[in-house]
Formats: sequence, C-alpha cells, structure tokens
Amino acid sequence: MIGITSYGAYIPRLRLDRMAIFQGMGWFAPAIMMVAQGERSMCNWDEDPITMAVEASRDCLRGRDKNKLDALYLASTTLPFADRQNAGIVSAALNLRDDMITADHTSSQKAATTALITALESIQGGQRHNIMVTASDSRETRTAYFYEMWFGDGAAALTVGDTDVIAEYKGSYSLSMDFVDHYRGADKKYDYVWEERWTRDAGYGEIIPKVVNGLFDKLGISMEDVDRLVYPCFFKRDHRSIAAGLGATPEKLVDNMHEVCGETGAAHSFMMFIAALEEAKPGDRILMCGFGQGANALYFEVTDNITKLPGRNGVAGSLAHKKSTDNYLKWLKFRGLINTEMGIRAEAPTQTATSVLWRKNKMILGLVGGKCRECNTPQFPKADICVNPECGAFHSQEDYEFADVEAKVKTYTGDLLAVSVDPPAIYGMVQFEGGGRAVVDFTDCELEDIRVGLPVKMAFKRKGVDKERGFVNYFWKAVPVPGAAAEKDRIRFDDRVAVVTGAGAGLGRAYALELAKRGARVVVNDLGGARDGSGQGSSSAADKVVDEIKASGGEAVANYDNVATPEGGENIVRTALDTFGRLDILINNAGILRDKSFIKMDPENWKAVMDVHLNGAYHVTRPAMDAMKENGYGRIVMTTSAAGLYGNFGQTNYSAAKMGLVGLMNTLKLEGKKYNIKVNTIAPIAASRLTEDVMPPELFEKSKPEFVAPMVIYLCGENCRESGAIFNSGMGYFNRAAILTGPTVALGNPDNPPTPEQIHENWNKINSMDGAKEMEDANTAIFALIAPPAGDSQTAESAAREDGDVQAVFDKMVNSFKADAAAGVDVIFQFNISGPGGGEWYCVIKDLACTVAKGAHEKPACTIKMADGDFLAMMGGKLPAMQAFTSGKLLIGGDVMKSQLLEKLFVIG
Ligand code: NAD
Repeated sequence: MIGITSYGAYIPRLRLDRMAIFQGMGWFAPAIMMVAQGERSMCNWDEDPITMAVEASRDCLRGRDKNKLDALYLASTTLPFADRQNAGIVSAALNLRDDMITADHTSSQKAATTALITALESIQGGQRHNIMVTASDSRETRTAYFYEMWFGDGAAALTVGDTDVIAEYKGSYSLSMDFVDHYRGADKKYDYVWEERWTRDAGYGEIIPKVVNGLFDKLGISMEDVDRLVYPCFFKRDHRSIAAGLGATPEKLVDNMHEVCGETGAAHSFMMFIAALEEAKPGDRILMCGFGQGANALYFEVTDNITKLPGRNGVAGSLAHKKSTDNYLKWLKFRGLINTEMGIRAEAPTQTATSVLWRKNKMILGLVGGKCRECNTPQFPKADICVNPECGAFHSQEDYEFADVEAKVKTYTGDLLAVSVDPPAIYGMVQFEGGGRAVVDFTDCELEDIRVGLPVKMAFKRKGVDKERGFVNYFWKAVPVPGAAAEKDRIRFDDRVAVVTGAGAGLGRAYALELAKRGARVVVNDLGGARDGSGQGSSSAADKVVDEIKASGGEAVANYDNVATPEGGENIVRTALDTFGRLDILINNAGILRDKSFIKMDPENWKAVMDVHLNGAYHVTRPAMDAMKENGYGRIVMTTSAAGLYGNFGQTNYSAAKMGLVGLMNTLKLEGKKYNIKVNTIAPIAASRLTEDVMPPELFEKSKPEFVAPMVIYLCGENCRESGAIFNSGMGYFNRAAILTGPTVALGNPDNPPTPEQIHENWNKINSMDGAKEMEDANTAIFALIAPPAGDSQTAESAAREDGDVQAVFDKMVNSFKADAAAGVDVIFQFNISGPGGGEWYCVIKDLACTVAKGAHEKPACTIKMADGDFLAMMGGKLPAMQAFTSGKLLIGGDVMKSQLLEKLFVIG
C-alpha cells in the first residue's frame, strides 16, 4: 500500500488580530473591514519559510526514523534563496543523510500538491520508499490590502511511503493552465493581482470543479465517495458555493481557516488536509486539491494506522499555541514595511564566510555537537578535548545531535542595548538533559516568560540577514515549551515536608490532602478527641487521612500527639524529622470549642481552650522553627477566627486564644525573617463539626473546607512573599484583616502632661482613623506615635505614606489624562502594583479617551510593575520614570517603548 505515512505542521505562535490592521489603516482603506474577522498567523521577525519548514518537518518526523528518508521536497513560493537549494538548508537543519535527493518545488501555489504527486509516483515506481514533502509560505503584501488580511504564514509536511500508511493514495488528476490570477515578476517583492471577481469566477469557480470532476471520471467515483473535501480558496463565500455546486454537503467541506490563521500559500492545501486527517477515522475518504495555474486533485482513504500515529503538534496543536497581538506596527516592522532607525551598532559587518559555514555546517545548521566515546559526556560545540575534567580525552568526540534533546534555562538576560528587531534581546545559557550547554538566543517569548529552570526546546530560526549581500543566516534558538511557564508557576511542594495539626478532619484534612496532592510529604497530626477536647482520643481520624493520601499516590505519616503539651509538640516535629528528614511547613490548625458566657467561663474551660489553640501553637511552633532555621526556609500558618479578630458572644476563651495567635505571628514574622520563614494567619469560615450548630444550614452546605484551602496552600508556597498578614477566607471569598493605627495627635509639652480635658477636647482627632496605617513592628508604631513621619524618607513604604494611596492615583488618572497628546495613540497599560496599597489596574487609551479599571486586562500592550511607594513617588513627580526604570524600581513588560507614553499622556505631579 502506498500513501501518506505521517504529517506535521507549524503555524507561527504570533497571530495578528485583523481588526488591528483595520484600526491602523481603515482610514485609508475602509473596505478591508469586510474581511477583518479573526486573526492571521504572522512570522516572528526571525522566522521565514525555511525555519517554518524545518519545524513542520520535525513535527512530521516524530516517532519516525529520519534516516529512512530517500528524498526531501520543499514547496514554496517565498523561498529566501533563488539560487542555493532551500531544501538543502532544511535537510541540513534536520541533519538528514547526504545520500538523498533534495529539491525545491516553486513558482506556483500548487507546487506542494505537484511535489506530493511526484513523490507518490516515485514510490509507486518502486525507486524510493520514503519521501518527505514539506510546504511553507510567508507571502508578502503591501499594507492596507485585502491580501494582507487573507494571507497567513505557515508550513505543513507530509511523508509518503509504502509502509505504515495512514492514508492510502488512490489516485490523482492534474490540470495545467497558464491562468494568471496573480504573478510576481522575478525582480519584484509583491504579487501583482488581477481583478478579484475574475479570479473568483474564472479561477476558483471553474478550475476547482473541473479538476474534481476530472478526478471523479478518472477514478470512477462521485461526491458520494468523498467524506472530506479540501481545496484552498480565501474567498469565504465562494469556498462554500463551489462545494455546494459540486454536490458536497457543508460538513464535507474542510474550513479554509480564515478566522484562525489565514491562507498559508503553497502550504495551505496540506494545512487543510492535515486538519482533516486530525479528525479522521479509519475508512474516511479525503479529496485534496491544490490550486494555481491549473490544479491538482488527490484522493486518499484513511487506514487503521492513523490511530497508531505518535502525538504531534499538527495543525490543532499549532493553532492552540498562540500569542495574539494587536500591535500592527510590530507586524509592519517585522515585515520590513516600515523603516526604523536601528542605530550604529546595527551597522556591524554581517558577511558570512561560506567557507566557514561549510566547515561548521553540521554545528550551525544541524546543532550537532560532540559526545565523548570514553566518558559519554556530551558537549556543544564539539571540540578536540573532552570537556569533562575527569576525562579530558583527545579526539574522542562522536557527532551528537542536540536539536531534540530536552533543555532547561540555566541563565538568561534581557538586553535593551543589543541590536534587536524586537527588543529586549533575550539570551542566555541552556542546559541540555544528559549534559551539554550552549549560549543561545531565546525567542517566541517575552522576558517575563523566562525563568531559570524553565523547560525549553530548540528551534531553527533566522539569526540575522545580510541585506547588502542578500544572505540569510540561520541558527538554533531556545523557545519555552508551551505551557511550561504555567506549569512552573504551579504551586508545588516536591521535596517539602509539612506538619498539619488537627488534620484528621475538617479544614486540617483539606490542607493535608492538597499539600500531598502537590507533592508534599505530610505529617497528619490528630488527637482524635471530641469537639470540646474531652475523651481519650483515637488514632482513627489521622489514620484515615493518611490512608486517603496514600491511596492517591501521596506520602504521609500519622501522628496522634496532643498539641496541648510541650512533649506533644516536640513529638509531632520529631515525627517529621525522623520520617522525612526535614520540616518546611507547619499549619497550626488543631482546635476545640468550649463556649460559655464570660461569667460562667470557669478556669477549666478557659484553660482547655488556651492550651489547644494558643499554647498548642507555641508547643509545636517552637521545635518546628528550630528545624526550619536549620534549612533557612519555612512557612508557618496560624489559625485565628473572626471571633478573635472581631468578637463573638460566648467565646471569650476562644477569642482570647485566637487573638493571642495573631500576637504570636506578629513577633514570629520578625524573628523568622532572616531565615526566610514566613508566618501568616488564616481566619477560616468552613463547615466542620465546630460550626455545624452555629452556621445556618444553607451556609453550612456551601462552606466546604476546600474553599479555604487554596489560600492556606498559597501561604505555604515558596513564592509567597507575604509575612505577618491575616486573611479571612471562606466559600471562595478572601480579604485581608489588619491592625491599623490612626494619625497621631500631640498634646501637652515636655514640661506639662496633657490633661484629661484636653483628651476630651481633641477626642474626634484622636479617635479618627483617617489615613490609618499598618505598622511593621512595635518600634515603628512607637516612632509613629511620638515622632510622626517627617516626610523626607526615601523608602517605598514611607513614600507610600506621604503620597496618599494607589487607588486614589487611579481614581484621578482619567482627570490627569492629556487628550490633546493622545492623537493616534491606541494602547492598554496594565499596572501591577505590589505592597500593601497595591493591586492590579489597567488603563485603556483609545480614540483620544482614557478609561481606567481595576483588575487585569487580557491583552495589555505594556505592563508596569512597581512597588506602591515607588509608583506613588513616580506619579507624584518625585521619581522620574527613566530613573525608576534604570534603578530597577520600574519593571516594564510587553511593549517597553509604550511606557514612555506615560509621561506624555498624563499630567504627572
Ligand atoms: P474540626 O473539629 O473539624 O477539626 C479540628 C481537629 O483538631 C479535629 O480533628 C480534632 O480532633 C483536632 N484536635 C483537637 N484538639 C487537638 C489536640 N489537642 N491535638 C491534636 N489535635 C487536636 O474543626 P475545623 O473547623 O476544621 O477547625 C480547624 C481550625 O480552624 C480550628 O483551629 C478552628 O478553631 C479554626 N476555625 C474554624 C472555623 C470554621 O468555620 N470551621 C472558623 C474559625 C476558626
């Protein structure tokens, strides 16, 4: 059987929102609005048909032995070299064998289907067994043109052969006609296009039906024998009407991908065919046409092998991995449609010595390094001496391909001074799995995406272009693995050990399960007593939770000690150290209730509650803190209660103990600071046996402990920067509670203490909480009392005190907007302000108007990250934006240059 044996695709990650084209140029060409739906794929500045072809081919070769390829055909109408075989570059990048045929198929949009028929027939002839046909295009158009809207960039690859066939080739039919709907003269950059109506009617409208009917006649089949129909036609309506005219029901017609990617030139028939294959089941029959100076039609039947094809990106995966942009100017810059000043650094000589390129061909184009025969150490580049200091063997290196080896970011930098089409230039070192390192550029990412340890994959990209001599240089760059950054940001507790007290039920159980699910090894402590702490206790509560954790693949150990005794606390911590060797996280959660109105609150009930909550936290935290100090790392969560923070009738003992825990946290946060131990407090609301008789039944139902757990898990995470804060949390609602101090009033003088009458007279001022502040510690609070802020401090926090609050700045932002300076400006700023007064706001400037809203915008052009005090100082005119930027106080993400508009667009100060 002969036919398709594998497929692969590559659509660049960048997608240009077509409305951005219209917004930029609609004033000039209003009619382009008609096709301004969805988005078109767009090459990054370092991508072209060759790089896309390499990526599509690699996708196609997944799970296949590339050494079995006998030929590689590259089809495209936008190849960078007119006389240097482009397929040869792709072959070198793929590090294919030398003894094979490579060929460029070009000069027509149907080049790919022609190459495919040639390949299939060559296999039929028995001369060759395995051929890859890769099609790739990135068509240039002038700005503000329908074709700029219709076209997209992309590449698709198919292998054909006589084994493991996934779609059997049943036959083809071709038409060759010198029909010139468009052409590009040899010395021209852009196509010359004939009238659209004529192209639709005399071109697609006549030639596609003719080739399809020609195939039907040749093979003796009809539309009844076709399950999916593939042909390119970027006129959406004609695309549908041609199918209808051929008798195909709408479900048979494969979408022309206008909304999601645009027409990818010579690659488009393959692209749509692959989209059909991705949804196909064995037995499905697919008819694919290519169009251009005539047409080709090919007929396939999908086989059972399609179900065995190893996973790949394909069209669906490529479409899913995207970054949409509405930065039309970026598109213009990347396509060389606007001429920007690149600075004198860009004038450095870029000539490539082709002799050197030939000598280092495998290294540069194939990313081939060396691996020592003696000690198996890989290294890049290959060298005469093994890099392993223990080995140091001479001439021991065999070729070693790095292109498909998994790698991680080891170091990185964002360089605004280096010449780059898309600053900042991001580069650094990657560490390959199994050994070997290389200094490379990072691409297809923003600086904020990169972090040390992030998994990256190597991708073939343009390194630079020697415009003077018309030469394109290629090399490999690192691209973050899709989804890896999000995965890396997931809060995980691998290698961490946690103690959760009172984890046999309620909230503690939810915390323990979630910690274990995220990789922590957990000590599940629970005495197993009654709700009021009475009774002997039982091991069953803790055991049950440990069993649950183990059943879902986690690690946990039970501990039945009583937190209310010093020995109990010691034992709990010892269980962690003896079983797991360390302790990183402690959640003081165990609790009982003994409610009584205060007069009836006898010492026994008072003491029992104090012992479990306040003393219990002391007993466990002291040895825990000792262990954490050793590691230089720790996360502690105390459990307070609304009863303690705000008061609750009948709970004096509980309220006092719970507020005592806040006091314990306040000082522990200071003592833990230098050991990276963060201490925070949760005030939960959750359904448990402690609340079953105090909560209304409907509330009880909704208050699952799982809705509190996320906050506690966050506070236990490595990325938690908070320390000394209290968070109310329940039913998915969260807020922060804090002790605030009002403004100071000075009365009397050093020789004369003030009188009670003076207190009375000044009561409203003393009692005022206007501008109340949180205090870092007792000294700050005392200082604020006896020496109110002088107003000249340089710290962010004191600046924040001086300059009012961040929300107020955003409230006033619309008024300080200078509409007259905003002509032609269309930008969205995202502000991420850290610190107590911080939060997220965004500001949309469009059509000479400014709107400000709280929260995160989906598509900000420029993200500004600052501490609250620095932000207030900047917006108050005390800190120039440039100084803030160069001193690292102002971090800018996305379109860095847009940030300069801030000073232009707003009255600062
Ligand atoms: P819960 O009764 O379901 O869980 C508390 C667990 O602590 C029980 O399994 C109990 O056996 C264990 N425990 C009691 N005394 C112990 C001791 N001396 N040593 C070891 N373990 C002991 O109650 P919950 O609602 O999950 O409460 C958890 C924590 O949250 C408590 O500190 C409670 O005060 C606090 N809290 C809960 C709410 C709420 O709405 N549920 C509100 C505010 C505060």
